[in-house]
Amino acid sequence: MFPRRTTKPVKIGGVTVGGGAPIVVQSMTKTDTRDVPATVRQIRELEECGCELVRLAVPDQEAVEALKDIKSQARVPLIADIHFDYRLALGALESGVAGLRLNPGNIGDADKVAAVARAAKERGVPIRIGVNAGSLPKHVAAGMKEGELAPRMVDVALEQVRLLESLDFDLIKISLKAFDVPSTIQAYRLMAEKVSYPLHLGITESGPFRSGVVRSSVGLGILLYQGIGDTIRVSLTAPPSEEVIAGYEILKSLNLREKGPVLVSCPSCGRVEVELMGLVQAVEQKLAGMTRPVKVAVMGCVVNGPGEARDADVGLACGKGRGVIFRKGEPVRTVEEKDFLPALMAEIEAV
Ligand code: SF4
Repeated sequence: MFPRRTTKPVKIGGVTVGGGAPIVVQSMTKTDTRDVPATVRQIRELEECGCELVRLAVPDQEAVEALKDIKSQARVPLIADIHFDYRLALGALESGVAGLRLNPGNIGDADKVAAVARAAKERGVPIRIGVNAGSLPKHVAAGMKEGELAPRMVDVALEQVRLLESLDFDLIKISLKAFDVPSTIQAYRLMAEKVSYPLHLGITESGPFRSGVVRSSVGLGILLYQGIGDTIRVSLTAPPSEEVIAGYEILKSLNLREKGPVLVSCPSCGRVEVELMGLVQAVEQKLAGMTRPVKVAVMGCVVNGPGEARDADVGLACGKGRGVIFRKGEPVRTVEEKDFLPALMAEIEAV
């Protein structure tokens, strides 16, 4: 792993992004923001699975009005996602949001951007400059040749950074999202060389659950491995809680965050002599929602079983119709196949 890039921290409510703080996992509600009960319900679900920042689309004045009510019921800091109309950004700030995501380029003339920057600064509210490949200004997107997407996205973002800096505003985060993974990686790497503002990572519109998780994991994983990234959002056409769970799994796989259990399980093969897949699914279900960072291994046979089981907090190495349970590296008991699940869970509870 490369050392993490040094960035200037910003505070979004009580959550620090950048400056060496743990990488923050965030998501976005998918309800109509004007529907306060539905939005609050979804925020609650996100809070329960560990989402640390929640962004909401604020497309009109009615959504701005709803924000105050939503905010009074949310524990997690809220970020308003604004496009085109600077009055919505001002209204969102008045409602007490902890962050803004906007694209100063589509807010219009400098006076309007200055009004937003002034109001955000007064409240200590950071602004994320969010550049997406799909919504580049027409003159930037026109005539783009292969390989030019990343530098053009960076140029657009830098122009907006300079605009905010010229207004004496530096509570800035930046994102440079594209569906294309190599372009996204290139864009973030270029930006990381140019500024020290914290970076919000994402692969935009990454798709439905399965392909989206893979695409996001590859893109975010490469950047995170290179020390780039201060907060992440996995964008999926799926319930937002799945985005949060996937985000933590990405960070856990690089040892960047601890969150709940880690389940090690072998793929099984012709050597297995127990019903392993059903067992692993059952263990996974039982572990869902557990918050303790416990490492559990469920292994099919003696080839790799004892080694992985020893290495976990609680491990099961199966044999023919029975298995050995390890706790903290030591074998503690032998159990029959029918007792695998309750025996494993009892050890996990006890560890
Ligand atoms: S641990 Fe055993 S059963 Fe599992 S994949 Fe390896 S060899 Fe096959």
